[in-house]
Order: sequence, then structure tokens, then C-alpha cells
Amino acid sequence: MKIAQILLPLPLPEAFDYEVRQGLDLAVGDFVKIPLAKAEKLGVVVSLRNDNEPPKPLKQIIERLDAAPLTKDSLAFIEWAAKYLVVPQGVVLHQVMRANDALFAGPFATKITIGSEKIDKITPVREAVLQIVAACDYAPLSKTELAQIVGASVAVVNGLVKLGALAEIKMPVDLPFTQPSFEQNSRDLNLAQTASLEVISKAIDAEKFAPFLLDGVTGSGKTEVYLEAIAHALAQNPTSQILVLLPEIALTQAVIARISQRFGAEPTLWHSEINANQKRRAWREIASGRARIVIGARSAIFLPFKNLRLLVVDEEHDASYKQDDGLRYQARDLAVVRAKFANATLVLASATPSLETRNNALSGRYGHLVLSSRFGVANLPNIELIDLKTYPPMPNHWISSLLVEEIATTLHAKEQVLLFLNRRGFAPVVLCSKCGHKMTSPETDSWLVEHRYSNRLVCHLTGYSIPKPLNCPSCHSYDSLVSVGPGVERVAAEAKQLFPKARVEIFSSDTSTGPQAIKQMVERMENGEIDIMVGTQIAAKGHNFPNLTLVGVIDGDLSLKGGDPRAGERTYQLLTQVAGRAGRAGKNGRAMIQTYYPENEAMQALLNDDRESFLGIETDMRAAAKMPPFGRLAALQLMAKTDAAVDVAAKIVGDALFPAHGIEVWGPAPPPMALIRGWRRRRFLIRADKNVDISAFMAKWRKAIKLAPSVRLIIDIEPYSFM
Ligand code: ADP
Ligand code: ZN
Repeated sequence: MKIAQILLPLPLPEAFDYEVRQGLDLAVGDFVKIPLAKAEKLGVVVSLRNDNEPPKPLKQIIERLDAAPLTKDSLAFIEWAAKYLVVPQGVVLHQVMRANDALFAGPFATKITIGSEKIDKITPVREAVLQIVAACDYAPLSKTELAQIVGASVAVVNGLVKLGALAEIKMPVDLPFTQPSFEQNSRDLNLAQTASLEVISKAIDAEKFAPFLLDGVTGSGKTEVYLEAIAHALAQNPTSQILVLLPEIALTQAVIARISQRFGAEPTLWHSEINANQKRRAWREIASGRARIVIGARSAIFLPFKNLRLLVVDEEHDASYKQDDGLRYQARDLAVVRAKFANATLVLASATPSLETRNNALSGRYGHLVLSSRFGVANLPNIELIDLKTYPPMPNHWISSLLVEEIATTLHAKEQVLLFLNRRGFAPVVLCSKCGHKMTSPETDSWLVEHRYSNRLVCHLTGYSIPKPLNCPSCHSYDSLVSVGPGVERVAAEAKQLFPKARVEIFSSDTSTGPQAIKQMVERMENGEIDIMVGTQIAAKGHNFPNLTLVGVIDGDLSLKGGDPRAGERTYQLLTQVAGRAGRAGKNGRAMIQTYYPENEAMQALLNDDRESFLGIETDMRAAAKMPPFGRLAALQLMAKTDAAVDVAAKIVGDALFPAHGIEVWGPAPPPMALIRGWRRRRFLIRADKNVDISAFMAKWRKAIKLAPSVRLIIDIEPYSFM
């Protein structure tokens, strides 16, 4: 008897055996429908064997689905990722099967083509219908579309079908994506770009795993280099597929435009904003190997590529590659392993590489490709620090007089300004001036943020919101609630007041919801319809605004706060990126950073354009503390509805985390956000030496821990959030 092991996209500990009935042709990687309990489920064949005496009677597989199978390297990746992330394999498979209806052929639509019969009695309307159908034979229309175009009733079309002059055909709704053409539109690369491209191209030809750090200042032409690497991969093998990972949807707009221009075709997209139909189409085309260039957000790392040859992770240092909800993973880290299993070339691109990646490049594990200057005549912006202790803004104002002067000069020269503050809304804190009551989110350790445009108080953690109350909820004083601290809305209001003639716009995820709105905002800035843009990080990354010459950072210290070992590195990365928006088209750019800590190492590195000594210091600090990349971290989080329950659970977990050589356990401790949506939280942090398999330890411990069903336990390998 032939037996198939079927993995289901569910959090179950193992795969199940099913009988393969006679005549059903199955291979490893095939998607199948199987009976489970009283329902039918979809899963994937992970192994096949012959066994004439199975230990127990087995149910039969219902059918094989009409979908391209998962490749061996995809299956190996699922198995590895599950082990690494300490979750059942089915949880990873669930990420892979994110477009369930893509596993079935179809859907189909009925379209009209020319039939086999000639007719004698031809009216002008019929004549018009026939002509249009003939003209559209490359992309046939439906009955209603036809009727609409001709201005006739559907009955006319039906009549012609009946006579055989027209015929109905069933066509798939999902059409293949336009194939990219790599022969045209290539640009001449400069010396450094050419040298990098040659190394990458050689690796692509070798068809072995080869990781690279493409390390170049903002505007040095990294994107240009990987566009040509994509062209090389397309040409090298007619079935090659390329995945470009980007950290933000905001960036995809610019990159899509450049890819479309370079290859004469839009790439296949994969991110949270595409709808179910687009997902289905993309998934099927990727699994079948027909989609050649895919651009995606972090979840695209799980897509079922048939022949992945080149993987690009742009802005590899970006923290948004880390998924902090549901399945917790770091897409950049998974990309390395994905490329390894696929024997593919991996390009990690950044102007400010993460310590992890830089360390791998310095130690020779990754090839190190360097572009050290901006392309062409463009210079890097000149960076200045504004010491807020010496030049404080007026009370309840946020822009220092030094920055105000510089804005005035820039506007006078008819150039553009970007004021950057990574905080949405009007004010981050609202409190009562009479009794001191602080407006917080219910059952959550989080402030309510005032949004003036919507006149609401919003919790950025849970999404909870209320209209701003007129009376203090605590002492009931009228009009006593005051807004403390700045958000982008408040800075924009101040800019308008200072420069009444300037066109001021806010660019944040509140004002630009979705890819279209983002695209419009970027275009308006490019076209010079905005003088002062006040933006959050959505404005900081990837855009190319030719007339933008001044970047003002309102609060340079914002990301230094919080107990995160990567805080300094992150501040440096973000501010470098923001500053890099200025002066991209040959004009001299300036960036002014307002800070209370000008002596901070990250600030000094920015001021002196001295990335290497800053990263050297950071590296030494991490090495001394044996923190990543010189050690491994895992977080274990517990959540329960009461303090008592979560403390009992923390005691059980604490007892189960037996000490071992090369491992340290810290906790339990309540994290800064100890209460979210009514869930009380406790955290353990586990640090292991580099040579210790921390995932294996976590898995072993997890097995030994028995908690009440109402308690939630989450394991986060290489955590990025310490809140
Ligand atoms: P990065 O990705 O490093 O920030 P880009 O690839 O966006 O840099 O390049 C910055 C600017 O320089 C872009 O406008 C780009 O079109 C231009 N550029 C870079 N390399 C070339 C080249 N070889 N030929 C023409 N323009 C180039
Ligand atoms: Zn009050």
C-alpha cells in the first residue's frame, strides 16, 4: 500500500499518514485534499512510502489539487524555519498557503469569439458586434462588455451565438503577468557599480548559494546595480525567478516604477494591500514559475517559488523585516536560509547595514561590495547638529530658531524642505491641567495620542479611539485637557504659522492610507506642489525628491529611548536615511538634527560622517555583552487575564528553564507594556552563546512546560521588540 505523509497548514505537532488509492499519481510537494475528522482539509505531501501493514487503518486522500507542487527546496525551507522559530511545521506551511483558492484552477469567465458559421441576414447592429469581436480576438470580451460597447442588448449577442456566428469560450480570469524584457533600457554603470555587478553576475552563473552585502551610501546607485543583476538573472536562465524584498509599501511605488521602466513590464506584487484576487493570481503564477520578477514585503519570503535564482533584500537593516505578531520571524534572516536551500544568489543592500550583516561581511562569510560615493555629481548632504540645550525652541514650539532660519533660506531659494518626526498625530500625551489625569488606552499601558484632523484620541498600540472629551473624565473640569509634546500634525501647524505662504503637507500613514495615496503624495512632492513636507518614517525611506535640499529632524533622540540593545544603531540608520533624502539631484543638501544629546556616539558619527568608527564602538559593546551578533537571543512571553494567573505561569516557566552551559536566563519581568487589551504580560529573555542552538533549547523547554489553557506563551527568536 502506498502511504503519503500529509502536512496541514495548522498548528499540529506532526504530519498525518493517508492512503494513496490506486491510480492516484502523487509526488512529494503535491497539494492534496484529505478528510480530517468530519471536514475536508488541504495539505501538502511531504513524503511517500510503501507499507503493506500500516499500524492502523488509514483514510484515503480525496484528490490531488490542480496547483504547481512545492519544490524540494521550499519543503526543506519550511522544515528548517519551523525548527528555527520553534513552531510546528504546519504554522510555517500556513504562511506559504496564504492564498488558499490559488490551489484550484480557475476561476473562469465566459468570453465571446468568432464562431464557425457565416450568416446571410446581417443587420448593422450584428455587423458591428461581429467586427468588434474580430478586433478583440487577442483579449476577448464578455457578453455584457460587448453589448455595452456596441450599445445593443445582450439578446443580440445571444442571437449570434445561437446562429453559430459567435462562440462562447471559457477563459481563466487570472492572466499571466507580462514577461519582462531584459535587453533594452540598461544604463551605463560607473566603475564601482560595474565591479559589483560583475561579482554578482558570476555568482548567478555559478548557481550556488552566494551571499553579498551591497554597501553603498544613499544615492550611490545600489538599486541600479541590482536592476542589472536582475537583468543578468533573467538572461542567464529562461526559468529563473527573482524576489526583491522591500521593507515598506511606500517604497514599492518607486521601485515598481523603476522596474517597469527597466524591463518594460510591471513586476508581480505581494504585500498586505493587494486583494484576494491579486493574491491568488500572484501565488499561482509564482508557483508555476511564470512570474519572473516578484516584489514583496516580508511575507513574500514564504512564496512558493519554482526556481528562485536571485534574492534581493533592499534596506536589509530595516526593523520592519521583523514580524512581531502571530508567527514572529525576521525576513532578512530567513532570506539567507531560503537562498541557501535554493542555491541562489543573495544581495543584501543598505547604506547603513545592520551590525549582524556588516559582521558577516567583515568576517568574509558574505561578499562585501562597496559603492562609496553618490552617483554622478550628487554629494552627500552636510549634516549639522542643533543642541537644544543651547538653542531651545520657544515654549510649546518644536522648531529651533536655527532651523527656522535655514527653512527660510531654503524656501527663498525655491527649494523644498522635509521636516521629519517619527510620531503620528498631534500630540503623544494628553493630560488634565487641573488634576493631572493622563488619558490612556483602556486595559493597556499606552497613552492615547491626540489626532487633530480627526479630533480623536487614538491608541497606536490597539487601535482604540474616542472623540476628544470636553471634560476631564476624572475631575470633570471643562476644557482642562492639554496636549503635551509634538506629533507631525503639531509641527505642521507650527510650520504654517511661521511660513504662512508656504504649502505645508503632512505625509504619514494617517494622511496617506494605501499605496495610491502614497504615490500621489510622492508625485506632488516631486512636482514641486509642496514646499514643506512634514513626515514620519514613511517620508524617510527610498524617495528621490530632486528639489529637496533641507531635511530638519525635529527630535533626533526619539529612537534612542527604550531599553533596546539596537537603539543606537537604529537611530543612526534612521537619521542617515532621512538625511539622505536631501540633495539627490546635484544640489547641495543639508540636514539639521535637533538633539539634547549632541555628544551621543550616534550623533557624532552622523556629524562627522564616520560610520565605521561608530559601528566599531557599537560592535565592541555588543561583543563585550555577548549580544547579537556575538550571541543569540530569544524572548519568551506569557500573557494571562490576571496578575495571579500570569505570575503562576511565570513561576512554572522559570522552574522549567533549567540552566545550561553557555546560556543565561533573565526574568520573569513585566515588560514596559505590561498590560495590553486586558492581557497581563511577563517576559523572559534568554541569551545563548553563538555556538549554542538556542532554538533547540527553547523547543526542549517548551515541551516540559505545562500551562493552564487560558495562558498564552509566545517564543520570539532574535526579538527586536523589547516593549
Ligand atoms: P541607491 O539605491 O543607492 O539609493 P539609486 O540606484 O536610487 O541609489 O541611484 C541614485 C540616483 O542616481 C537615481 O536617480 C539613479 O537613477 C541614478 N543613477 C544611479 N546609477 C546610475 C547610472 N549608472 N546611470 C544613470 N543614473 C544612475
Ligand atoms: Zn482632571
